[in-house]
Amino acid sequence: MPQGAANPTKVVEMASQREYDGAMDSFSEDRPVPIIDPALCDGCGLCVRACPSHALALEHGKAIVARPNACQYDGYCEMICPVQAISRPFLIITIPQE
Ligand code: SF4
Repeated sequence: MPQGAANPTKVVEMASQREYDGAMDSFSEDRPVPIIDPALCDGCGLCVRACPSHALALEHGKAIVARPNACQYDGYCEMICPVQAISRPFLIITIPQE
């Protein structure tokens, strides 16, 4: 890279409620939590058992983020879900270095 040219640095941050602006109902106001698609969830409960923070629960046969403040965004739920019903969105922000 030529000297003095901007060297972009990628910064990965958890997405916030504001960026997703209501598109994902499972986001809490203060902090991001995993998104669970109830249309895909079959209620197997694997994510509930896998979550070390006990943030998830089953309600009416579907997984929900019952305790969003407990969520550590560690991703065990996303990894274990056999039907890919859980996702953890991140924002990738590119900031030029000075
Ligand atoms: S692991 Fe997936 S399918 Fe099973 S309860 Fe959790 S979200 Fe639903």
